[in-house]
Amino acid sequence: MNAFLKDSFNEGHLRSILATVPDAMVVIDDRGRIMSFSTAAERMFGFSQAEVVGENVSLLMPSPDRERHDNYIERYRQTEERHILGIGRVMTARRRDGSTFPIELSVGEAKTPEGRVFTGFIRDLTEQQSVERRMHELQNELARVARISAVGSLTTALAHELNQPLAAITNYMEAAQELVDTSDADPEYLREAMSSAAEQAMRAAKIVSRLREFISRGEASRRTESLGKLVREATALALLGSGKDEIEMRVALDPQSDRVNVNGINVQQVLFNLVRNALDAMEDLPIKRIEISSEPVANGMVQLTISDTGSGILPEMADDLFEPFRSTKRSGMGLGLSICRTLVEAQGGRIWVEPGKAGGSRFSFTLPLSEPAIA
Ligand code: ADP
Repeated sequence: MNAFLKDSFNEGHLRSILATVPDAMVVIDDRGRIMSFSTAAERMFGFSQAEVVGENVSLLMPSPDRERHDNYIERYRQTEERHILGIGRVMTARRRDGSTFPIELSVGEAKTPEGRVFTGFIRDLTEQQSVERRMHELQNELARVARISAVGSLTTALAHELNQPLAAITNYMEAAQELVDTSDADPEYLREAMSSAAEQAMRAAKIVSRLREFISRGEASRRTESLGKLVREATALALLGSGKDEIEMRVALDPQSDRVNVNGINVQQVLFNLVRNALDAMEDLPIKRIEISSEPVANGMVQLTISDTGSGILPEMADDLFEPFRSTKRSGMGLGLSICRTLVEAQGGRIWVEPGKAGGSRFSFTLPLSEPAIA
């Protein structure tokens, strides 16, 4: 095959690949100029290949990447330091009409006789993100239902069980009253009615103490857990589908205070609730930053602090934030923080809130550190 044939074979071959790859594919040279633009890219961005070949690829990006992209390439040329190469990354792209959409971009590099070229594969995440958003809604709904049914079934069971002794007490007391009203009643009957009522009152007290035992049973299933792992998992879950790229999450945990003696699921429930509340509080604000830190405190405890750049706690809410049914949200149950308090206290810790140093809120809670291993 001579050189000409070989080139035209490659070109035809390349074009057929470009026409069929499902992901959009954009090839640029080492100065950021577009060399080829696949059929899927034409559909995704609304530009034709002829319009964009030779243009700077920053055309497909919104600010601030649009202005910075030349610098990114230049920095790579000088330092060879990889920031995006070889890694899929979620970012925002811009269509011809100026609208933006989420994408996952993976970039590969090839050296050709004409110089270096970069190939970008782009997947439109719009669909995927709406799936995630839906999942997130479902998750919320699930969490809500779980809370309602946990509280609901407990109260129903409690009401049912307590109802019997209370009804019996009422009957015995009514009978006693009638006996008192009847002048010739046998005092023995009266004594019997009173002692039966007292018995039933004891039964009611036993039900209440059984309930207490049930609530504090969490204690039995405590074991050594890595706080770092609990934080990582709970925050990932809480952030799912909430537009991750906008939220700055800074986690700085003290590595010396990683081993805690807790019920892992309960601690994750607390973290999940606190992070979700922080996200809710930052919803309409331009700066969305959550910082999670830990430090050892007195009595073998570690203190975990979650601060946000949200709206802060309303003064009228401050006093009884951790009481049930206090909510400022349209669809809020106001149970999250009261459940957090029960769960933290079941681990032997406490939870409180302070105003953030630069606005927002700072929720802190303590957990018992594991005993150091005996050498
Ligand atoms: P819900 O989230 O259902 O309202 P919670 O008990 O979790 O119930 O929260 C109670 C209330 O506390 C919220 O409605 C909100 O007013 C306030 N709150 C909780 N966390 C924050 C936060 N990080 N920033 C500002 N306000 C908060």
